[in-house]
Amino acid sequence: MTRSLVVVGHGMAGHRLVEEVRAGDRTGRWRITVVAEEPRPAYDRVALSSYLEGRTAAELALATPGLADDPRTDLRLDTRVTAVDRAARTVTCSDGTVLRYDALVLATGSSPFVPPVPGRELAGCFTYRTIDDLDALRAAARPGEAGVVIGGGLLGLEAARALLLLGMRPHVVELAPHLMPLQLDEGGGRVLARLVGGLGVGVHCGRGVASVDAGHDGRAAGVTLSDGTVLPARAVVFSAGVRPRDELAGPAGLARGKRGGFHVDEHCRTADARVWAVGECAAVLGRCHGLAAPGLRMAEGVARQLLDAPHEAFPGADLSAKLKLLGVDVAGFGDVHARTEGALEFVREDETAGSYAKLVLAADGRTLLGGVLAGDTRGYAMLRSLLGRPLTAAPERLLAGAVAG
Ligand SMILES: Cc1cc2nc3c(=O)[nH]c(=O)nc-3n(C[C@H](O)[C@H](O)[C@H](O)COP(=O)(O)OP(=O)(O)OC[C@H]3O[C@@H](n4cnc5c(N)ncnc54)[C@H](O)[C@@H]3O)c2cc1C
Repeated sequence: MTRSLVVVGHGMAGHRLVEEVRAGDRTGRWRITVVAEEPRPAYDRVALSSYLEGRTAAELALATPGLADDPRTDLRLDTRVTAVDRAARTVTCSDGTVLRYDALVLATGSSPFVPPVPGRELAGCFTYRTIDDLDALRAAARPGEAGVVIGGGLLGLEAARALLLLGMRPHVVELAPHLMPLQLDEGGGRVLARLVGGLGVGVHCGRGVASVDAGHDGRAAGVTLSDGTVLPARAVVFSAGVRPRDELAGPAGLARGKRGGFHVDEHCRTADARVWAVGECAAVLGRCHGLAAPGLRMAEGVARQLLDAPHEAFPGADLSAKLKLLGVDVAGFGDVHARTEGALEFVREDETAGSYAKLVLAADGRTLLGGVLAGDTRGYAMLRSLLGRPLTAAPERLLAGAVAG
C-alpha cells in the first residue's frame, strides 16, 4: 500500500532525504510531497557565495534527476507549512492546502539571528542565507562605499568577501575578542585578522553593535558600536549566528532542545514515532549541528528508516574545519581552546610569514587533544589524524613541520 511522506523544507538536508528515499524505494511504497518555502528547488547553500562570482542559480541547484516527471514526488515551491496536527496527521500549508501524512520529516534549517538593535529594520540591512538575500544585497551595493558585517565567524567573513566582490569596503564587527571564536583560538584569530586586514577588511573585535543609524533618505547609513565608534555603512549584513527554525514545534506539541531545534533521539525521531527532524533544525539528543555534513548524515539515516533498511544511530560531529576565507587558510580541530583540565598548549608563530600553529596536548604531554593553524594549513590532515592519539614526534618538531608543510 502506498504511504504518504511529507517533507517540510527543500534545503540541503531535505533534498538528500528525498533523493535517498527515491533511490531506495524500489517498490514505490512512498509518495513524497515536499513543501518548500523558497521559490526554487534545493541548491548548494555551502557554495552560496559563488553566486556573486558569477555562478547562476541553475548552476547552484542540487541535482534531482527526473524529479519533475516523477509521479511519486510532488514538490511545492514558494509554500510554507504553517501548522502540524499530529492527532489528525496533517500539515497545513500557507496556500490553505491540508496534506495528510504517514511520515513527516521536518527539514526547516535555520534562520540568521539578527540581534535586537535599533535600526535593524532599516532598508540597507541584510541577512546572508539564501539566493534571494544575495540578490537583495547585490541590488543595494554601491562600489566604493563602506559596508558593515555584524559577526566575525565563518559566515561573517564570507559576507565580507561578498562585499569586496561587490566593490564595497567591508568592516567586520565581532563581539568576541577575536575572529572565528568557534573554530580558532586568540592567536589564530589574530593572524587571520592581520591577513584579512591586509586585503582591505576593517576588523573590529571585542565590540558589539549598538545601533544601525539612518541617513537623510531613511536608509541605513552607519553603524554605532558598543564603544561609541561610528562606521559608515551603505549596507549592513547581519551574520551573528543562526537559530534553528523550530517555530512549528510549539503548535505541534513537539519538544524543543535547550537552545532550540526539534528535540530528537539519536535516530532523529521526535517523541512521535511518525515525525523526524533532520539538518540544522534537529536538536539530536538536545544539540543542533550548524554544518552541512551532519545534516546530510541525518537525512541518510532517516531515509533508511523509512525504507526499513538497517541504519546506524547518528554518531555526532565536531567543529573541525579547514577553510580558506578571503584567501586565508585557517583550520581548527578538537579542543582548540584547551578547555580540557590540565591541557598543555604549544604555539609556534612566524610573524614574517604570517603563520600560526598551536597544538593542545593532554596533561600527559603526549596525547593530541586539538590544534589551530592559521596562514598555513598544510599540516592539517597529518595533525587531525593524530587527534586522540599520542604524538609521533616532539610537539616543537610537529609544529615546525605543520608550518613548513
Ligand atoms: C554562505 C553560507 C556558507 C556556508 N558554508 C558552509 C561550509 O563551508 N560548510 C558547512 O558545512 N556548512 C556551511 N554552511 C551551512 C550549510 O549551508 C547548512 O548547514 C545547510 O544548508 C543546512 O541544511 P538544512 O537542510 O538543514 O537547512 P537549509 O539548507 O537552510 O534548508 C532549509 C529549508 O527549509 C525551508 N523552510 C523552513 N521552514 C519552512 C516551512 N515551515 N515550510 C517550508 N519550508 C521551510 C527554508 O526556507 C530552507 O529552504 C553555509 C551556509 C551559508 C549560508
